[in-house]
Amino acid sequence: MSTIKKVLIANRGEIALRILRACKELGIQTVAVYSTADKDLKHVRLADEAVCIGPHQSIKSYLNIPAIISAAEVTHADAIHPGYGFLSENADFAEQVEQSGFIFIGPRAENIRVMGDKVAAIEAMKSSGVPCVPGSDGALDDNEKRSFKLAKEIGLPIIIKASGGGGGRGMRVVESEKDLIESIKLTQSEAQSFFGNGEVYMEKFLTTPRHVEIQVLADQHGNAIHLGERDCSMQRRHQKVVEEAPAPGISPKLRDKIGNICAEACKKIKYRGAGTFEFLFDNDRFYFIEMNTRVQVEHPVTEMITGVDIVREQILIAGGEKLSLTQEDIEIKGHAIECRINAEDPETFMPSPGKITQYHAAGGLGVRIDSHIYNGYNVPPHYDSMIGKVITYGENRDNAIIKMQNALDEMVIDGIKTNIPLQRLIMNDKVFKKGGMNIHYLEKMLGEEE
Ligand code: ADP
Repeated sequence: MSTIKKVLIANRGEIALRILRACKELGIQTVAVYSTADKDLKHVRLADEAVCIGPHQSIKSYLNIPAIISAAEVTHADAIHPGYGFLSENADFAEQVEQSGFIFIGPRAENIRVMGDKVAAIEAMKSSGVPCVPGSDGALDDNEKRSFKLAKEIGLPIIIKASGGGGGRGMRVVESEKDLIESIKLTQSEAQSFFGNGEVYMEKFLTTPRHVEIQVLADQHGNAIHLGERDCSMQRRHQKVVEEAPAPGISPKLRDKIGNICAEACKKIKYRGAGTFEFLFDNDRFYFIEMNTRVQVEHPVTEMITGVDIVREQILIAGGEKLSLTQEDIEIKGHAIECRINAEDPETFMPSPGKITQYHAAGGLGVRIDSHIYNGYNVPPHYDSMIGKVITYGENRDNAIIKMQNALDEMVIDGIKTNIPLQRLIMNDKVFKKGGMNIHYLEKMLGEEE
């Protein structure tokens, strides 16, 4: 039993349903909040209470802090789960939730704030012993000589990145010294207009890395563990398309080494809750790029190979409980793959909202569907196009791929277009089947390389 009795779910779609399920298992009451476009969401129907918090525009509903806190007040919720996206990494929100007397199911606002500022995050990680990409170790200034010197020391190509950046925006690769100063200035002014923070820094540009990330859990009593890694290298325009765990080719020794470094870093910064350390992985070495201070879309693949319910742990930790698991309890077994299912044209990637006229979900041993859709559900055009995730678990990677191929063949989603045909192509791709692709592979496979 958790000390938390009622959770307000400040999100929508599949993750809201995922959180609702975890609450129900713990005997916790749920409050759904929704925009006017979302009254038919599955979790809204299943929640104990539901409150409309505004019109379809996210800024007026899912990003509307006063409306969400008021909903928690009128329903007497005692905790708020932010899910991913929306307000999940907004330090001001976390702070206001706590100042209003509610439990924020996530880390302390201070940790969120530091991790949202990449220069500060890198500094914090470096001093906690986490390996980072060789770089400027701090913001760049107007001193052109210094910038040239840094670029020379780091070695071209380099990448200029916005300290306040996110979503793959505010970055520029510099191949030649002659472009350096202009690139810095351009990125600074873009960063200022996108993120309201013109601070930029410099990093070595790794040309063909993989994206490998470590899942951690930490409680409020100084305990922290890692749940191994995920490989999320299959990306298009910096958006993950397929994720898997464990990452092909990572030895248990290497996993333990980097995992323990991350767990130790959590202890040093007094982190609490679930979190992810994202790394670029190149030539058997990890280079930290950022930390996500929330549950991630791809968390199920880790759940499948460890048996740990990450959302349940988030809630228990927020309620003040000690981690019930030690590092020795974590055993990685089998292999899991997740395919994100988006309401979009599989060739043009244009969003495809609308009514689902026919839905049949795949099933069978080792098949998990995390999705809020149902027959007759209308996918609204206002939000992210992801409508669910198919996750398969097998005794090994080949088996997980076969299960995924079968699951994708079984899925029927009519009335709208989805990327299922693209996911089938990926699951049948020779290079994917081998594993260990770098982050450019999917775009190359699609003939979209820059
Ligand atoms: P964001 O917060 O915008 O997602 P990240 O720092 O996570 O920014 O970087 C996003 C993506 O940009 C990475 O997944 C990788 O593809 C690319 N990238 C970032 N830094 C580097 C680097 N030093 N070398 C090569 N690619 C990089």
